[in-house]
Amino acid sequence: MRKNHGIALALLLALWACAPQPYKTTNKVYRKQAKELTAGLNGKPAGIAVDSVDQTYWWAGTVNFNLRKPNFVIIHHTAQNSCDQTLKTFTMTRTQVSAHYVICRDGVIHHMLNDYLRAWHGGAAKWGSVTDINSASIGIELDNNGTEPFAPMQVRSLLVLLDTLKHRYNIPQANFIGHGDIAPRRKVDPSAYFPWQQLAEKGFGLWYDTSSINLPANFEPLQALRIVGYNVKDSVGAVEAFRRKFMPADSAKGATLDDPSRKVLYSIMKQSE
Ligand SMILES: [Zn+2]
Repeated sequence: MRKNHGIALALLLALWACAPQPYKTTNKVYRKQAKELTAGLNGKPAGIAVDSVDQTYWWAGTVNFNLRKPNFVIIHHTAQNSCDQTLKTFTMTRTQVSAHYVICRDGVIHHMLNDYLRAWHGGAAKWGSVTDINSASIGIELDNNGTEPFAPMQVRSLLVLLDTLKHRYNIPQANFIGHGDIAPRRKVDPSAYFPWQQLAEKGFGLWYDTSSINLPANFEPLQALRIVGYNVKDSVGAVEAFRRKFMPADSAKGATLDDPSRKVLYSIMKQSE
């Protein structure tokens, strides 16, 4: 009996050794880079220049600290044709892009970077007064070419992942947003097919209820968009981003918000104050 167990184990090990491990090389690079970062956190940090002031600089390490944690989740679509293509893109240094998670159409989740480390997924972006989105967020890429509905299995996995992240890092409901929200005009992902309402019902991101809303006469749509978080420097881009998310069927209506859209915006604004 014992001998049989031994043989089975040896067989399993042999199978494991022969199994394709396409990311063996890049996983090694990951470990090396993570090790270098960790080494940089140990001991005394780099000092500050004190030549110009009349004070002495002391390093006096406190005993009360932990790691900073992510406070936003940014959702993307890959605009590529397969998960493999995206995993390849994120494991080549010349692309200079990455995300913490990639979710395939069949629901398989690839975790590519420790949540405490900074992925390169936001690019030039702004939400409220936060300008370094990559430092404050977790990036999730959904395998989707941008012109198709999102696969139900994929959305199911996303909801499970979001639930984990929300509780693990205590991320506020309003801080689950899209790449198109933080980079209006420059980015349009996730597309108008993305089920934001379904997410909001589970506690990820905001949704509207206009049933009891009376618009104030002095309502200012641009100011409302700014309160929600949008960068309104490019006002048309901000309106387009807002509409793609909350009124995807109206995407051809241009930059001016009609009364029903203003009510939607007012409802979202009230939840953002
Ligand atoms: Zn994106």
